[in-house]
Amino acid sequence: MEKIVSLCKRRGFIFQSSEIYGGLNGFWDYGPMGVELKRNLKDFWWRRVVHERDDMAGMDGSIIMNRAVWRASGHEETFSDPMVDCKNCKARHRADQLPHKNDETYCPNCGSRDLTEPRAFNLMLKSYAGPIESDENLVYLRPETAQAMFVQFKNILETSRKKLPFGIAQIGKAFRNEINPRNYTFRSREFEQMEIEYFCRAEDGLALTDYWLEERLKFYEDIGIPRPKIKIHDIPDSERAFYSKKTYDLEYEFPFGLSELEGVAYRTDYDLSAHIKHSGRPLEYFDDEKKEKFVPHVVEPSAGVDRTVLALICEAYDEEEVADGKGGSETRTVMHFHPRMAPVKCGIFPLLKNKPALVEKARAIADALRPHMMVFYDEAGAIGRRYRRQDEIGTPFCVTVDFDTIGENGPENADTVTLRHRDSMQQERIPAGELKDRIATAIF
Ligand code: ATP
Repeated sequence: MEKIVSLCKRRGFIFQSSEIYGGLNGFWDYGPMGVELKRNLKDFWWRRVVHERDDMAGMDGSIIMNRAVWRASGHEETFSDPMVDCKNCKARHRADQLPHKNDETYCPNCGSRDLTEPRAFNLMLKSYAGPIESDENLVYLRPETAQAMFVQFKNILETSRKKLPFGIAQIGKAFRNEINPRNYTFRSREFEQMEIEYFCRAEDGLALTDYWLEERLKFYEDIGIPRPKIKIHDIPDSERAFYSKKTYDLEYEFPFGLSELEGVAYRTDYDLSAHIKHSGRPLEYFDDEKKEKFVPHVVEPSAGVDRTVLALICEAYDEEEVADGKGGSETRTVMHFHPRMAPVKCGIFPLLKNKPALVEKARAIADALRPHMMVFYDEAGAIGRRYRRQDEIGTPFCVTVDFDTIGENGPENADTVTLRHRDSMQQERIPAGELKDRIATAIF
């Protein structure tokens, strides 16, 4: 994991938040490469889940909502983790994550077994809306995006004119005051979620849960996380929330162990019923054809943006032994991102930076591609070094403009460039005018 963390910092993927002040535990910033990767992931999720489907509608809810929402959802009362203190070194831990030996738990910090009894610690971060810090003005930063989709169910149903089954999708920030943020960005206090609430009739709930599990596995494959790398954990009855009739956790083998990327849960009619009860508003669905009124059931595929970004980074990271061109070998660090996820799609290099005709042509190619994709123009250092820099950020294609391109070696190759492929390191010569379509097809 250290190598991945170091590359992420060195190449501008992820930085500690407030780093120059010592950071803040559980908070992270995404740098120039990280933000592109994250956007590609969110955009592709949105495309798959909203744009390519007829049965979905999107929304973007506020982070702070009326406190009554969290009372109705049960979060104010029960959204907590069991916390213990070590009486010896005073460290705080989640009771359910303590290591144990001979059936006895101990402090992972100092090894002491002298721990307090677990007590419930509410994970919602608090603030005040308004000038007075009173109980009346107390608000929470949402710990999940889901509730906005339940609360707006009726508005969205009416304005989108959807019929059951249909879903609402949302991407947004969520906050949890995790007792022990850890494993890099995996468990943070501020993170982003990509959530779907898919509303249906009760009799379709279980089948749709399996349907969404399959859809989500396809999604991970399409972003470069192969199916065998994801373990499906069918949560047993005894461990599921009482309202859920089926829950699958999708787990990825991170370097620190198998851990949850996403949950697909059949939540029955629990959420809408709770909001009907607490708000007194009718959130039922009326089936025109059958003349029936009922509370829809819901299937919730809930994924973490940051955890998926981390999985993409872990999956892509590779060190290879390659020929160094001098008869020996060298280590190449390469990120094998799927081209549609790669932060930069194409590196563009003039062979030499002190030849104005090469520079001008390379810049013109870069400018022509910019409206269609993220490109990186680089003229510094030997070509091999420039390729390596792009390999480290996972750029799938590199284009070199040389003397052939500018017609100095005759008209046959004029206006052609070399296109170098990241994974195979193979190069081919193609007309510069074909670049856009060639790359666009691969990154779509
Ligand atoms: P965990 O058991 O790991 O705490 P959870 O089961 O509480 O997670 P959910 O409430 O189901 O998580 O949230 C849905 C998704 O949101 C998770 O699958 C995960 O991808 C993401 N997520 C939840 N908590 C965090 C966090 N602290 N940091 C980053 N992502 C998170």
